[in-house]
Amino acid sequence: MQYDVVIIGSGLGGLACGAILAREGKSVCVLEKNKQIGGALQTFVRQRVIFDSGVHYVGGLDEGQNLNQLFKFLGIMGKMKLRKLDEDCFDAILFKDDPKIYRYAQGYDRFIASLVAEFPEEEEGIRRYCDQIREVCSKFPLYNLRSGDYFEKVNVLEIDTQTLLESITTNKKLQNVLAGTSLLYAGEPYKTPFYVHALVINSYIESSWRFVDGGSQIAIALTREIVSRGGKCIKHAKVVKLVEENGTVTHALTDDGKRYDGKLFISNVHPTKTLELLETDMIKKAFRTRLNSLENSISTFFVNIVLKKNTLPYLNHNYYYFDESDAWSVLNYTDETWPKGYALYYAATSKNEKYADGVTVMTYMRYDEVKQWQHTFNTVTNEISRGEDYEAFKKERAERLFKLVEQRFPGFTDAIESYYAATPLSVRDYIGTDDGSLYGVVKDYKEPMRTFISPRTKIPNLLLTGQNLNLHGILGVTVSAISTCSEILGKDYLVSKIRNA
Ligand SMILES: Cc1cc2nc3c(=O)[nH]c(=O)nc-3n(C[C@H](O)[C@H](O)[C@H](O)COP(=O)(O)OP(=O)(O)OC[C@H]3O[C@@H](n4cnc5c(N)ncnc54)[C@H](O)[C@@H]3O)c2cc1C
Repeated sequence: MQYDVVIIGSGLGGLACGAILAREGKSVCVLEKNKQIGGALQTFVRQRVIFDSGVHYVGGLDEGQNLNQLFKFLGIMGKMKLRKLDEDCFDAILFKDDPKIYRYAQGYDRFIASLVAEFPEEEEGIRRYCDQIREVCSKFPLYNLRSGDYFEKVNVLEIDTQTLLESITTNKKLQNVLAGTSLLYAGEPYKTPFYVHALVINSYIESSWRFVDGGSQIAIALTREIVSRGGKCIKHAKVVKLVEENGTVTHALTDDGKRYDGKLFISNVHPTKTLELLETDMIKKAFRTRLNSLENSISTFFVNIVLKKNTLPYLNHNYYYFDESDAWSVLNYTDETWPKGYALYYAATSKNEKYADGVTVMTYMRYDEVKQWQHTFNTVTNEISRGEDYEAFKKERAERLFKLVEQRFPGFTDAIESYYAATPLSVRDYIGTDDGSLYGVVKDYKEPMRTFISPRTKIPNLLLTGQNLNLHGILGVTVSAISTCSEILGKDYLVSKIRNA
């Protein structure tokens, strides 16, 4: 059979494209290499506690906000269990040697009031910061669910986040508080464009939510949308080749030797990996070189912790802790200074609202640190031990991380029942990037065009989607899926459908 659309990868980008196109009557087939659908939306159960791999909270889900409207259009709003984080504090920023808690509150008025309470002399700067965020976000048409073109945003692409923060205040503490959630976008000072910061932070200030019992609900709901319209989501189907004949991709071959014919192909796999799948003369060497030269964001080390029953109260907000006054410095650690900070996320469960069952502590880790074990491959379907030295490495790192958490949260370590550590290799093996990159291609304010990847390729029936296109994250990837499907259905048509959903 020849499908209308074959999609490689069932990350959010692939599934969202699948749902949109299935709703338009196209026959859709999603091919996923893993046992579980969803890519970074996968969840894991350890001792009956559900942990997320890559979605701890999302923004923009209140009525009338962008992700809410997009999820309505995709047919999944109302089909997931959500919990709104504390309105007066969804993120708390903490620094070593500073007992204060700097609270990010939901809604711009509350957000401003909360920060002004800590920095009364800085009200004008804080207001200007919020104005700048909203101004920059307004230049991104699809983010605002409207048509428009690339040129609207040209003027806001070329400023970096730290320079912008310095322009609104000379107060170093306030600058660091405002950079306090840079782990959400792997931010680097004097490099990460302000628009990346603005698009991410605006969404959370508008409203912040946890998925109760895990973010895989998004993947499950989207899969149901696809399947209920006759589409297919096939697991254990690793695409090893995209075959091009006479200028178009004709079929995908999977590692079990099966062939999937399609009129159109959408790759949700990292663009450089997509090129590796293709044997064709149609992609120019210069394009391959450009893509291969793009830097990927740093990876992560995170520990999913099963807590002793009824020991730690469930907290309906997140923490970002820094072991020094500079919030950007977490990224620049040495072996001796690691970890220089962390994010702490409570798992929301429908079983217990009073006490936490599980918590995730996450920090950065460079791929190089686990390179000596890179020849190993470990997932639930291909369970192997990477060796005792790897286990010892994970244990030593987890204990260092717990020691840092303990400094600010005394008694934390005593509450641990068991824990499961993930390294850049876990991210690599479950998601399929070469280096376990957290958020894909790094954006640099100095080279906005070089790091901009279009959904189109030189092969007319091969499109790209996913976090490497515009922006990572649940909102960013959903918007990227709209951008990809606009190439097929037309942007004005799609935008009008989204607005009327
Ligand atoms: C640790 C972590 C924490 C995060 N926390 C948050 C958060 O709190 N909030 C938020 O909004 N975002 C968060 N993100 C980011 C967000 O999860 C991602 O940006 C988003 O889910 C990426 O979606 P994607 O469509 O690009 O694809 P991916 O999730 O990268 O999926 C790609 C899919 O393609 C499959 N694949 C790869 N190669 C092949 C092949 N050859 N054949 C078949 N299938 C293949 C993979 O198995 C995978 O399923 C986090 C990410 C990580 C890693």
